[in-house]
Amino acid sequence: MQEQYDAIIVGGGPIGGYVAGEIASKGFKVAIFEKNKQIGEPLKCAGLVTSRVFDYVDISKESVVQNKIKGANIHSPSGYKLTIGGDRVHALVIDRLNFDKEIIKNSMEKGAELFLENSVISIQKKGKQIEIKTSKSNDVKCNLLVGADGPYSKIRDRFLMSQPTEILRGMGAEISNTRLDPNSVEIFVGENVAPGFFAWIIPTNENGTEARIGLCIGPESTKPPLYYFSNLFKNKNSSPFLENVKITKKIGGSIPFGALKKTYSSNLLLVGDAAAQVKPTSGGGIYTGLLCGSYCSSVAIESLQKNNFTSQFLKKYHKLWSSDIGMELYLGMKFRKL
Ligand SMILES: Cc1cc2nc3c(=O)[nH]c(=O)nc-3n(C[C@H](O)[C@H](O)[C@H](O)COP(=O)(O)OP(=O)(O)OC[C@H]3O[C@@H](n4cnc5c(N)ncnc54)[C@H](O)[C@@H]3O)c2cc1C
Repeated sequence: MQEQYDAIIVGGGPIGGYVAGEIASKGFKVAIFEKNKQIGEPLKCAGLVTSRVFDYVDISKESVVQNKIKGANIHSPSGYKLTIGGDRVHALVIDRLNFDKEIIKNSMEKGAELFLENSVISIQKKGKQIEIKTSKSNDVKCNLLVGADGPYSKIRDRFLMSQPTEILRGMGAEISNTRLDPNSVEIFVGENVAPGFFAWIIPTNENGTEARIGLCIGPESTKPPLYYFSNLFKNKNSSPFLENVKITKKIGGSIPFGALKKTYSSNLLLVGDAAAQVKPTSGGGIYTGLLCGSYCSSVAIESLQKNNFTSQFLKKYHKLWSSDIGMELYLGMKFRKL
């Protein structure tokens, strides 16, 4: 490992991977530090995205798209079913593990260096640079640090940035042996189903025989996600979809809501879940994170070209993403509260 980088990206998730590739493609020396052993593991996503994500990532749809969704059935606690869509493809189901791996592969092809099992444990300002220590290496310096380290971002805490308004906890699984309408997502709402959010069943193949199920709960919930997850198999609305299914993989994770009011500081940019750039109505963070990631990387590149890492200069990133989707995320929080 070299000791000096132009930019260090903390977090090898989809957003960190994407930003790293964009910066490296302009010839800058970029390192990605990822605390886990493998990219994309453990799985923490339902994998439902808009096709617009493919405007940002250079991945063939064939390699990661598992299924196409045309509509949704929303089940109320009393058993009322509201059907929406159904006319055309509204969303794609992706293999999230391969999606993350492909993004990182692309960024490495563009020159980014990846260091797995390297948890960033300390960050110091050293003159005009940032010096970090990871669980495996000491004193690695950079001009620009990009915090893409997810919902519980250490970088966000270290720079005393504000916190997301709320962080939802989620749990789910990949299942087989289902008999689902392959074009339709099933959504379940209610205090006893998923307080503060909703539960889902997403068919992941064109036969409707495999799916991802899951739910998230709000901070006000007194019981753990596992309690509600087990309930999905007993609840009168969801259980008919889950008879005799086999769980093949567990999914878990958190979703931050309420985008940060400030996503930059001198030598620092925060992006993706670390900045809570997530749609509060759906919990989708891949598209919004990539969109903000594109602004993050363009400002990062400009700052490296101009050798300007001041807070005043990097503010441009915050202005760009917030004038694009800031209002949508803000209104999303209002709708959520409503
Ligand atoms: C249950 C669930 C279902 C979801 N479903 C969807 C969906 O269907 N569609 C959608 O668009 N979004 C969904 N999301 C949200 C989506 O997963 C996130 O928005 C997306 O992963 C954000 O990407 P990211 O790169 O910002 O962060 P992450 O994917 O969280 O990546 C952050 C990375 O940083 C690493 N890291 C953390 N701390 C350190 C450290 N100190 N040092 C080094 N590395 C570190 C982590 O290991 C991780 O790999 C879901 C989330 C959950 C929890």
